[in-house]
Amino acid sequence: MDEKLKTRIEGLSGDDARIIEGDFERELYSMDIGEVPFAKRLFHTTPELVIQPRSIETLKKIVRFANEEKVAIFPRGSVSSGLGGVVPTVKGIVLDLSFMKNLSLKKKALPKKYKGEDYTTLKVQTGVRWSEIENFLKPENLSLRAYPSSFFSTVGGWIATGGYGIGSYRFGHLKYQIESLEIMFPSGEVKSIQSEEEEFARFFGTEGQFGIVLTAVLKLRKKQKKSLPHLIYLESAEDAFDFIRDMIKEELKPNHIKYLDAAHLKEANTVLGEDLFRLKDAVLVEFEEDDEEIKFLDFSEGRGILAEDYLSNYIWHERLFPMKRRGGKPTPLACELVIPLEKAVPYLKEVKRITERCGMKIHVESHIVGKDKALLMLTHLCDVREPKAYLVHISLIPVLTRLGIKFGGVPYGIGIWNVPFIKDKCEKKRFEIYKTYKSEVDPRNILNPHKFFAVRTKWANIRGITFKPLVFRLLIQLATLATPIFGKLTRPKEEFKEESLLEKTAYSCIKCGSCATVCPAYLVTNEELVTPKNKLYLAKKLLDGEEISKSDSDKVFLCTHCGMCREVCQNDLDLVAAWTELEKMLADRFGKPKEAIKDFVSAIESSDDYWRFVYANLSFKNLPKKPLARTF
Ligand SMILES: Cc1cc2nc3c(=O)[nH]c(=O)nc-3n(C[C@H](O)[C@H](O)[C@H](O)COP(=O)(O)OP(=O)(O)OC[C@H]3O[C@@H](n4cnc5c(N)ncnc54)[C@H](O)[C@@H]3O)c2cc1C
Ligand code: SF4
Ligand code: SF4
Repeated sequence: MDEKLKTRIEGLSGDDARIIEGDFERELYSMDIGEVPFAKRLFHTTPELVIQPRSIETLKKIVRFANEEKVAIFPRGSVSSGLGGVVPTVKGIVLDLSFMKNLSLKKKALPKKYKGEDYTTLKVQTGVRWSEIENFLKPENLSLRAYPSSFFSTVGGWIATGGYGIGSYRFGHLKYQIESLEIMFPSGEVKSIQSEEEEFARFFGTEGQFGIVLTAVLKLRKKQKKSLPHLIYLESAEDAFDFIRDMIKEELKPNHIKYLDAAHLKEANTVLGEDLFRLKDAVLVEFEEDDEEIKFLDFSEGRGILAEDYLSNYIWHERLFPMKRRGGKPTPLACELVIPLEKAVPYLKEVKRITERCGMKIHVESHIVGKDKALLMLTHLCDVREPKAYLVHISLIPVLTRLGIKFGGVPYGIGIWNVPFIKDKCEKKRFEIYKTYKSEVDPRNILNPHKFFAVRTKWANIRGITFKPLVFRLLIQLATLATPIFGKLTRPKEEFKEESLLEKTAYSCIKCGSCATVCPAYLVTNEELVTPKNKLYLAKKLLDGEEISKSDSDKVFLCTHCGMCREVCQNDLDLVAAWTELEKMLADRFGKPKEAIKDFVSAIESSDDYWRFVYANLSFKNLPKKPLARTF
């Protein structure tokens, strides 16, 4: 970026934003959780600058400036999405919104009614994470209605991407749990939009195309009195979905219904190191009222086998760790669709037929998100270090998406990689409304450009042509016909050398970012490089023999070895042991940065945020409670 522009941005930001210019740290902002090896060849994925704004005023100045100068901006939250939604496509600025974290409870507001129940509201800024909200609400005897299984993702991120998750069966899509949104448009104008307004729904699932979500007023519920989960084994996927449909017909009232296939329960056994779960398809439900539970138990009688209570409780707890995998290769590939409930089984049968030809083992789980629809998530474990197999498998993901569309499904996210399916996600009229709205609110196309609506690559757009729906469909047809050949190509051939713990850990990290939320080093330094996922990224570079600078190496040592990251790790990785190994390697090469470590410890000691975090997590009742809420 032009030096003059950079200086002007620095002037606008003042002390109220952190500006990141370092090469390696900017590289950390060039990716999301999807491993797409050719992304860098198609787009300018490394941003020229990264800005972490702390206030709406500063954000406004930056956005206005970007609009005037026609500089692209890419908003991002916790980066737990994987379709390229946060990945830069052209040179520009990444706005890291994860430090816009105010929240305020509107206790004084009169209780309002939601489906006949009273509710209180909570106003939250975009960067607050769902886990933090739930933590904040506990002492207030309040709770969220629905939340994503990526519990550590941000409010803005879930609004912008999906909105279906745990509790969606009972409470519906996220848009029904929000009273109003504050949006900042590319012009810098900030507008409050109420749920009754037609414009409101446009900000859900449109991946930051129209404006930046600044705040949301969430409708809360009273804290759940009881959690009564049950897992029931059934003979097949067909039986499981019949069971679900009958349960819905009988008007049983669970908070949540989830389908898990036998492969999923096999993984749970591997994680636990014991054959505790039966290797069958299963349905997981959660009730909160005793009488509803009794109705369910009566209904289930003779239809399947109920798991023991401790297993049901365990697998319910694991709802927040859907990617915990031990049994296979380290890199997950995923395909997500919302599909009519009655089409789920025929679709899954076809998926099985195609993927078995290619030696792919698909895991299936599905949240039931309404009386007639399911959010299906298919994952396949692969290894990015086996390039041939990985490329074939990654190219089969759109084949499975296309197949789902034929069965009446709709792709869940778009980002970059699902752009050819945009017209399958939005019917024609809505697509036209979105396009017109985009040209009204973002006429200079600075917000998250060249994705969602259409892709433009850096190569005179010749490669972008492959993203055109017609061309893409043709490619998919060819890929489907080629599956028997793919099958031969993808049989595992390469045997890997014995791996060190660090290597195994680094390649098993799925980059979900859950660990960053609880990492005191990140809390205090706000630097991406100190987060567990990015230390593992650096470790991969180191193991691959790539250059690492001493200043980047020094940051790895900013770690208390507290083990909080391990507690929440999606993949249950032995992270503290990995830090010991990594630090040793770096100390051998560059020496230990004793001064930096000393400064880091002092910064932790004097950080209010750190002590608030410690009190909140240890819940010492007799410690002085520092206020967690800051009002706007
Ligand atoms: C283990 C795991 C479980 C998951 N479970 C679920 C689930 O149950 N339900 C579900 O829907 N998804 C799920 N996901 C996908 C992902 O977590 C969600 O899409 C998530 O809520 C995204 O939030 P984020 O903060 O990570 O957003 P990011 O990934 O950082 O951003 C996602 C998109 O939103 C845009 N964006 C971010 N913040 C803003 C903002 N303030 N204003 C405008 N645009 C913005 C970005 O530009 C990008 O396009 C899961 C992912 C993982 C890894
Ligand atoms: S062990 Fe280190 S990386 Fe993990 S949470 Fe603690 S400070 Fe962060
Ligand atoms: S270290 Fe664990 S929690 Fe952190 S990004 Fe990797 S898999 Fe997720």
